[in-house]
Formats: sequence, structure tokens, C-alpha cells
Amino acid sequence: MNKAIFLDRDGTINIDKDYLYKIEDFEYISGVVEALKQLQDMGYLLIVISNQSGIARGFYSEDDYLIIDRWMKDDLKSRGVNITASYYCPHHPKALVKKYRCECNCRKPNTGLFWQAQKDFDIDMSKSIAIGDKERDIAICKEAPVRGILIDCNKKWSNVISDIRNKHKD
Ligand SMILES: [Mg+2]
Repeated sequence: MNKAIFLDRDGTINIDKDYLYKIEDFEYISGVVEALKQLQDMGYLLIVISNQSGIARGFYSEDDYLIIDRWMKDDLKSRGVNITASYYCPHHPKALVKKYRCECNCRKPNTGLFWQAQKDFDIDMSKSIAIGDKERDIAICKEAPVRGILIDCNKKWSNVISDIRNKHKD
């Protein structure tokens, strides 16, 4: 089985700019690339799980999302970081775009995408960690033995790494 880091995207990998979809607006959060490299070296798969209700709200298309997602993964790869997979939820219960209007099980705090990733990559949840900037990013911790870490102004990426190194020695 594999261990994984379940990563939120906006506000965790890149600075949250409210419904970001343009590559030129994408800006890494300080320390994230180095931190992801270290997590990868510690043997974690890096899996992005992102709510993208901007699609449901009609701010950008699913293709727009896929373009910036592809760009981000290529850019990270050129910096030595391999994202194993990325999953996203395009839905919202009050979506403007009808085909995305539903109560889904993939919009965080729902956990459908976490379990999908668990199956796709044979992930041992008890050795895995969810990292995000909102409580909903770590809601998986209520139904699986995943550890959750919130990034905020007090918890920088550099602190996250030392924290994980101290508590996960395996
Ligand atoms: Mg976020």
C-alpha cells in the first residue's frame, strides 16, 4: 500500500485569488515547492483534491481548469515535484450552469474524491495526511484515520515539514 498527501490547491499550493483559472495569475505559496519535494522524498504520493465551483458558477469551463491543472503539474515537474494525480469537483448545489447543479459526494467537505484516490492508488489512509487551508479540506479525518494539517498564517509550509518529520518516522 502507498501513503499519500491529499493536497488542497487554492490557498495551499497557490495563493487563493478567488476562482483562479488564468495561468498568469497562478502564484505559488511561499515554501510549497520545496516542501512538496521533501514530502515526495519521504515516500508520499502527492494527490491534489480541489473544489472547483467556479466551473458550476460559470466563471470558467472545465477545459479552462484542465489547462491550468496540466500547466501546474508540468511546472512542478520541471521543479522536481511529481503530482501523482489531481481530482476536482466541478459541482455546486446552486450552480448557474445546470449540468453541474447537484448535491454531489465529491465537493469537500464530502469525501468521495478521497476514497476514489484511495482505490486508484491503493492508499493506506492511516499513513496519509490531508493538508489544506480550510476545515473542509481535512473533513476526511472524521471518517478515515488520516491526519489533517491546516496551513495558515501561523502554520507555514516549513513548519509543516518539521511537524511531519517529527510525528511520522516510518
Ligand atoms: Mg483552499
